[in-house]
Amino acid sequence: MSAERGVLMDGRAAADAVLAVVAEGAARFAAGYRRPHLAVIIVGENPASQFYVRSKVKAAERCGIDSILIELPAETREAALLERLGRLNADPGVDGILVQMPLPAQIDQQRAIEGISPAKDVDGLHPYNIGRLAADRPRFVACTPLGIMELLARYRVRTAGARAVVIGRSVLVGKPMALLLSRKHETGDASVTLCHSRSTDLASIAREADILVAAVGRAGSVGAEMVKDGAVVVDVGINRIADPASPKGYRITGDVDFEAVRPKASLITPVPGGVGLMTVAMLMRNTLQAAEWARGERHEGNPAA
Ligand code: NAD
Repeated sequence: MSAERGVLMDGRAAADAVLAVVAEGAARFAAGYRRPHLAVIIVGENPASQFYVRSKVKAAERCGIDSILIELPAETREAALLERLGRLNADPGVDGILVQMPLPAQIDQQRAIEGISPAKDVDGLHPYNIGRLAADRPRFVACTPLGIMELLARYRVRTAGARAVVIGRSVLVGKPMALLLSRKHETGDASVTLCHSRSTDLASIAREADILVAAVGRAGSVGAEMVKDGAVVVDVGINRIADPASPKGYRITGDVDFEAVRPKASLITPVPGGVGLMTVAMLMRNTLQAAEWARGERHEGNPAA
């Protein structure tokens, strides 16, 4: 690790670079066939979800991927959602499908995820795709951990042999993150500890980490006392906290106590401006890949080619 401290990992610059490569690939694909196509489904009117889906649609536009935003009313029944997913699965004009979470209470999230064809599951949440990652034969990998791996690579963070601690064991972030970091692969090969709400003595475990990933969902979960000098700190959290000074009345902050931790970290992701932007960029990359794979184009890692 370098002796430098508090260097920001710029998610915007990295995401822009990824999107530029995706745009080239999408243009190539479109020239030979048609534009890649992403279908995004949102159920209900959760403002945060609406913000996320809009940013995904905008990113698609930016890199030459067609997208359709399907907005379903909050009272949509599970059967109706599954029926809609079935039609999208069968539609050869649709390459990737994403259902924005969370879903209203009457819809079982897991059944919705499993209603997406694994071949179009660009969010990488279907048990088939999680199983492939666990079996060390990844196909679609969840966008947030994938984006973190990309960010680490771009900042030349060496994972091989490093001690990594992931806080949070969700299927969306923590678990696939731990699997990616521990893969038998040049971009993995870390010794990983996966912590969660039942972990005891979290601070002492976290202090061992060369690479610390916080995916808890609570502001201030990671303080300076939990960070080893020179560690790489990745903050996944997106938390809204009240801020009377802001025109909106709130501001967005991560899980890490940024001001306290930054001077100890060698590299650190800001929130906003870090992991979130990479997540969207990876969704675009996965969508292009879905299109290429569906067409049987040869591609590294394409089991269908
Ligand atoms: P989740 O609620 O599904 O999981 C949170 C995890 O944190 C759980 O595994 C839980 O065991 C663990 N946890 C809770 N309290 C803890 C504690 N006191 N000590 C240790 N572990 C604890 O959340 P998630 O979907 O994994 O998301 C986590 C955070 O990341 C949220 O803030 C979410 O908004 C954010 N997020 C950001 C992006 C992005 O693109 N930046 C993407 C997905 C999620």
